[in-house]
Amino acid sequence: MIKAVYPGSFDPMTLGHLDIIKRASKMFEQVVVCVLNNKAKSPLFSVEDRVKILNEAVKDLPNVSVDTFEGLLIDYAKENNVHVAIRGLRAVTDFEYELQIAQTNRKFSDDGLDTVFLTTSLEYAYLSSSVVKEIASFGGDVSRCVPPYVDEMIREKIGRV
Ligand code: ADP
Repeated sequence: MIKAVYPGSFDPMTLGHLDIIKRASKMFEQVVVCVLNNKAKSPLFSVEDRVKILNEAVKDLPNVSVDTFEGLLIDYAKENNVHVAIRGLRAVTDFEYELQIAQTNRKFSDDGLDTVFLTTSLEYAYLSSSVVKEIASFGGDVSRCVPPYVDEMIREKIGRV
């Protein structure tokens, strides 16, 4: 059985992330979407809220679960018997960074944590959590970028009506 982990900040999850999750769920027996609890970043949503959003998004995908981790992905993978990491690629600009992380993870993990890249669906190629936060902070409409319950949570958070 191949268990894969899809790690990220998911601050917040967008339709681009969800597209990757759904496609990965068809490729692997088990997928764990893993929220990185990075103490160095100051996120818009708490880890608890980000997990809540993801749990709502994957509730109809029986082979997908949600977890959190701090520290190194290779340590999480080892402890949880995961052999594949999933990452999304939007543009060439993602590639260089992602390649370096993937090679590092492979080199530093005992049994070689491999990374599988899924290219973004074209309709989400422009989409990132940062873009969503930027638009929302200026009162823009992000309902095309995130599921309705996330839109609602962003409105509450940013204080928009
Ligand atoms: P990180 O801070 O680890 O980059 P993100 O939550 O920003 O976390 O992204 C997690 C993963 O999802 C990354 O591999 C990123 O490239 C991918 N991703 C983000 N947005 C999209 C999108 N619109 N389409 C496809 N993949 C995406």
